[in-house]
Amino acid sequence: TKWVYGFGDGKAEGTAGMRNLLGGKGANLAEMSNLGLPVPPGFTITTEVCTYYDQNGQTYPDGLQGEVDAALETIGRITGKRFGDTQNPLLVSVRSGARVSMPGMMDTVLNLGLNDATVPALAEASGDPRFAYDSYRRFIQMYSDVVMGLDHHAFEEILETFKGENGHSLDTDLSAEDWGQLITRYKALVEEELGRPFPQDPHEQLWGAISAVFASWESARAITYRRLHNIPNNWGTAVNVQAMVFGNMGSDSATGVAFTRNPSTGEKALYGEFLINAQGEDVVAGIRTPQDITEAARIAAGSDALSLERAMPEAFAQFTEICERLEAHYRDMQDLEFTIERGRLWMLQTRAGKRTAKAALKIAVDMADEGLLTQAEAVMRVDPAALDQLLHPMIDPKAARDILASGLPASPGAASGEIVFSSDDAEEAKAAGRAVILVRVETSPEDIHGMHAAEGILTTRGGMTSHAAVVARGMGKPCVSGAGMLRIDYRSGTVIAAGRKFSQGDVITIDGTTGQVLAGEVPMLQPEMSGEFGRLMEWADGARRMAVRTNAETPADARAARAFGAEGIGLCRTEHMFFDGDRILAVREMILSDSEEGRRAALARLLPMQRGDFSELFEIMQGLPVTIRLLDPPLHEFLPHGSEEIAEVAEAMGIDADLLRDRVASLNEFNPMLGHRGCRLLVSYPEIAEMQARAIFEGAVAAAKATGAPVTPEIMVPLVGMKAELDLVRARIDAMAEAVSRESGVTIEYQVGTMIELPRAALRAGQIAESAEFFSFGTNDLTQTTFGISRDDAASFLGAYQRLGLVERDPFVSLDQEGVGELVEIGAERGRVTRPNLKLGICGEHGGDPDSISFCERVGLDYVSCSPFRVPIARLAAAQAAL
Ligand code: ADP
Ligand code: MG
Ligand code: MG
Repeated sequence: TKWVYGFGDGKAEGTAGMRNLLGGKGANLAEMSNLGLPVPPGFTITTEVCTYYDQNGQTYPDGLQGEVDAALETIGRITGKRFGDTQNPLLVSVRSGARVSMPGMMDTVLNLGLNDATVPALAEASGDPRFAYDSYRRFIQMYSDVVMGLDHHAFEEILETFKGENGHSLDTDLSAEDWGQLITRYKALVEEELGRPFPQDPHEQLWGAISAVFASWESARAITYRRLHNIPNNWGTAVNVQAMVFGNMGSDSATGVAFTRNPSTGEKALYGEFLINAQGEDVVAGIRTPQDITEAARIAAGSDALSLERAMPEAFAQFTEICERLEAHYRDMQDLEFTIERGRLWMLQTRAGKRTAKAALKIAVDMADEGLLTQAEAVMRVDPAALDQLLHPMIDPKAARDILASGLPASPGAASGEIVFSSDDAEEAKAAGRAVILVRVETSPEDIHGMHAAEGILTTRGGMTSHAAVVARGMGKPCVSGAGMLRIDYRSGTVIAAGRKFSQGDVITIDGTTGQVLAGEVPMLQPEMSGEFGRLMEWADGARRMAVRTNAETPADARAARAFGAEGIGLCRTEHMFFDGDRILAVREMILSDSEEGRRAALARLLPMQRGDFSELFEIMQGLPVTIRLLDPPLHEFLPHGSEEIAEVAEAMGIDADLLRDRVASLNEFNPMLGHRGCRLLVSYPEIAEMQARAIFEGAVAAAKATGAPVTPEIMVPLVGMKAELDLVRARIDAMAEAVSRESGVTIEYQVGTMIELPRAALRAGQIAESAEFFSFGTNDLTQTTFGISRDDAASFLGAYQRLGLVERDPFVSLDQEGVGELVEIGAERGRVTRPNLKLGICGEHGGDPDSISFCERVGLDYVSCSPFRVPIARLAAAQAAL
């Protein structure tokens, strides 16, 4: 096996493609050398050595030593120096580099090879003793800290004391002799603290640093980071040893970092910072204020510190050219590190630069326009999940933030408004044209109207899957949940935050992207849907196979979804249309009456409202498919609570309140999730299905008349487990279609289908498909029923499951492809055997999750359906899945 790969002098033994073996940094150093760019010569010890080291009691493979010595010889030949030489010493840096950049790994050690004998030689060769002794003391400090574990503060204290004793205030005041005295003190500190002298032998220094890099792979910090980011332990890290170049050799030397494009806006302009007469990390350390690289950036920043463009025009011109070359070569925005030694430019690192979602979008589209990428490649470059950042208003990054509390970032985006503590107040304020934030301990289904009316929702209790969080995400409203440090007092209408009291009507801002709660109204930036965003989406639409629909029941949601590019409604949950004021009373009457007659009377009051709802939805979604799910109520959510509500309903029904209370009690279920819901309710009360079918068909007739375009409703029966259930409900729907056709003289095309959300339905899909023209996989319930866990109760143990690694991701957020996914596959396959043109879709939170969408593509579903604000994410994810 070859353990060491050299680079430099216009060639290299490795390439960019060898990232796994050489790590990201080593592979790119090799690639830059191969491109003939000025890279200080060096070599990379492979990740395989790291694995060997870990598995063999921290020892090295035979042959490594020889390869390292040979590689050092080569560097010496190229540079004309020798490692450990007391005339012309070669100094090196030792740099770690895993496949992916990883905090927790050993910091870089610079100036290695300096000792009491080589430092005078460096002083002589450079003609700058001050530089030589400064470099040596930096090396002692860095090496002691990074390799020997001696905290750097101890050295800084010595330096401060020394400066005090000698009346110096700046490091630059110190002479070569001063540094020499400090070096004596530094070495004494090492000996005192560690009981052994600072290593003088350059080879001992080198192997100490190499071992420290490999050992840092197993450091607690690195292990934790790997666990959190799913990085396998056996990847290992590489070590790069490279000839030093010096940015601290006077005013014609410098060091800096740059991006080939602006990483926050994506603008095509070189962007970066540098320092004159500085070394390595001085730029990021923030000791001195770095200067802008380009004149344009300097002017924009209003700075009067010299730009690199002005200070060193030749090196700048060469650097700009290299940036362009590297970007074209890697076909991506690069993040670069460089050093200029006495006017001569050296490249020390290049890699794909991190960027914001906005920048990612702009860079991908621009690069396609520039011919650097194909449109398909541009589509692949943008992370769909990151689009979420762009689809909501966000707090202007320049705005001042008066933070009152922080909770969980439950639903992204930011909103400002007056505090209200109840959903009724929210509705009232909204009707009066005022913006409000609904502030609650927690929310329940009865708060739907208040959540609709509010600009944002803030709760003090509950997690990422609490009612408030789930509903807010569905509505695309900002939500901060579980802000536990807030104290709400409903009675006095106040909330205490950070020791300050806020009352109903006071304005606050919530940031659902970060979880922050802020005082007052904070300036916002609005989402930008046109421009690059629109163009990338167009390319994505051209590439995808699956359609993207939305889950929507209100006109506002349906309109928003169309604006986001939804191609129909995949799930209209009719029970959500019943929570509003008047309606809930009629629904309660219907549920609570003990006769069909009573139920029909209540349903008759609901019919015109439903008809209106549907015709409006059909009109908005003109020409696009609309799937309407018949009533699937968790019954308990509709029941009146407390004596006041019971009295109100009793009066409306004309019955005794006590009698009603008994009936409410009798409807109470132990497991509502597995209770009298879905088609079970339609089986026991078929008149509900009839009313809804009538409303759908009459709404379709009305919409067709209004728009002149035919409407083809898709009627979906929920929670079917047996074909016989579907048949029973279907018979009522078919009969109603005929009745409405007869009455209106209009023939209505429609389809009847079912949700597949019970394991039995997936298993019996072949039979069910005899009666269903489409299936929609209701993966929320299918996850509950497959795992046998309730979504509302899962929070108490899923956290531990995730921590222990039993499940990787919350199965309610990202589809469990192995288990629940197998049922989806079975259902799709068996259904299609019976009915080859069976339409297949998925609804529920998974329809907007990129990983789950890629699964849907594999299984061959026809569409995914998700909440309006996730439609663009789904469009992009579906395209990536198809490409
Ligand atoms: P990180 O991975 O933390 O960026 P690096 O290995 O890139 O660590 O090293 C940090 C900095 O150290 C570099 O940006 C560069 O300024 C400096 N550096 C590393 N190697 C050399 C070298 N051979 N000559 C001069 N400076 C170097
Ligand atoms: Mg670096
Ligand atoms: Mg369901």
